[in-house]
Amino acid sequence: MILIFFGPPGAGKGTQAKFVANELNIVHLSTGDLLRDQLIKKSKLSLEIKNNIKNGKLVSDKIINQIVSERISRQDCNKGFIFDGYPRTLPQVYFINDFFIKKNLTFDYFFEFYLDFDSIVKRITNRALNEDRTDDSAETIKTRLDKYTHETKPVLDYYQKQYDSIYHTIDGNQEIKKINFFLLRLLKKQ
Ligand code: AMP
Repeated sequence: MILIFFGPPGAGKGTQAKFVANELNIVHLSTGDLLRDQLIKKSKLSLEIKNNIKNGKLVSDKIINQIVSERISRQDCNKGFIFDGYPRTLPQVYFINDFFIKKNLTFDYFFEFYLDFDSIVKRITNRALNEDRTDDSAETIKTRLDKYTHETKPVLDYYQKQYDSIYHTIDGNQEIKKINFFLLRLLKKQ
């Protein structure tokens, strides 16, 4: 099964993606996590990635598309995966469309997590206290939400039109358990 969990930072998609991937025994493919892994490895690309993440800017499509296509090509992704945080720009959408056509893959579900920006700021500020993320500061949150509105929101509009039949919306303000339950009930019916 191939799923997309989509939404602004802090809407709860990462928490749910981890849970669902575990329950369905598929891969949780978070581009944020993959990029943070690159930083640990101190690769050539580290500096660009580090600065962009720190400032709340998006990493270039070229780098992201390469990381994602390599990750999907690994054998464990044959059992299925959840995109968490990808695609985030229209060029990423076009890239993954081509890649899926070549590999004969299709999306099974698209979930949009939504949450108002005031609640997002509160959540991310809280998360900053518990997790060591350089990009959870008040200033960076503003840039990340701005990037979401201008660069990522068009992706949502695209998928809403293209994938109407597999498109679901999830209110990110609900209790975590309630969202878990909704997702599993729907996905385990398959
Ligand atoms: P996340 O953990 O999904 O909130 O991602 C953290 C940061 O990683 C983002 O603010 C971006 O700097 C970068 N990032 C993650 N996914 C992408 C993507 N698909 N395209 C570009 N940059 C990304």
